[in-house]
Amino acid sequence: MLSSVIGHRRLLLLLSRAVRRETLPPALLLTGQPGIGKRRVAVAIASALNCLRPQSAGDMERDACGECTSCRRIGRGVHPDVIVIEPGDTGSIKIDQVRDVIGRAGYRPFEGRRRVVIIDEANTLVDAAQNALLKTLEEPPSASMFLLVSSLPDALLSTVRSRCPRLRFGALSPGEVAQALMRDHGYSEPDARAAAADADGSVGRALAASSADLTEAREDARRLLEESARAGDPAHRLEVVKGLTGKKGTPARERDQVSACLRALASLLRDMGVLAMGADRRTLANADLEPQLERLSAAFDHDRSLRAYSAVDRALGALERNASPKVVADWLVLQL
Ligand SMILES: [Zn+2]
Repeated sequence: MLSSVIGHRRLLLLLSRAVRRETLPPALLLTGQPGIGKRRVAVAIASALNCLRPQSAGDMERDACGECTSCRRIGRGVHPDVIVIEPGDTGSIKIDQVRDVIGRAGYRPFEGRRRVVIIDEANTLVDAAQNALLKTLEEPPSASMFLLVSSLPDALLSTVRSRCPRLRFGALSPGEVAQALMRDHGYSEPDARAAAADADGSVGRALAASSADLTEAREDARRLLEESARAGDPAHRLEVVKGLTGKKGTPARERDQVSACLRALASLLRDMGVLAMGADRRTLANADLEPQLERLSAAFDHDRSLRAYSAVDRALGALERNASPKVVADWLVLQL
């Protein structure tokens, strides 16, 4: 259902209106970085088009019910009129897969109102498959619709691109990523918040990173800031850092953990800035730590925060250039 998609509000409202007014173009290209819900939206469009009891919900002019046989079959991926093709083991979409759907697209839908062909990772279509698709995109069968999904749309042939109006999906906010992790992937709130803060607005990226380690990295970062806020003697801070670099097995793991901690530091500092400026609290990446951040932002005035932020940036750069994680961590705590 469109209404159960997290984020992308404006696009969803547009789509919902277009479904009701039957003004959706016969082909669309859904683009945006990986892991933000493009394919989910494509399936939701297919449901809204084929639902047996479509409804309007809130400001969505038309949405699927989520419960009729049509919606359930689409949800399970077994609706005869909603066809998803995606790259197989070879990593590409072959011409046979495309010929097959083009053949089927020529017939009336079996049961639904509209046959919807979803091509996920469309940039993996081999050139021959794109050329085969072209003619169908030029003169689409009236009851069929093509939804191409791709995070690399420029890898498609320009002839294909020019026939598919583009829907651009932006990154999700950290809050939206956390919400998706909790609702769809069983994350606890602290794990979801920590993973979301380091995910660049992509649920997929958050899932790819190990949430346990990120929670730990964020906890280390917070303790480091609190220790610095107390303005205690530097030796004390170095103690905290020792815990940071000493506990992970291999050098590569140690590097990853220190770099995760640095990114967590950057995220916390950014949030402290939000609080200090009195900006909208809904934009906090670490909303679950608001009381702690509030205390910290009192200790870190504007200049100190800026210095800390640029120190974290330099430390990340040094790590990328292969500096020793221990040396980098030791240097950084003295800058905070
Ligand atoms: Zn339905």
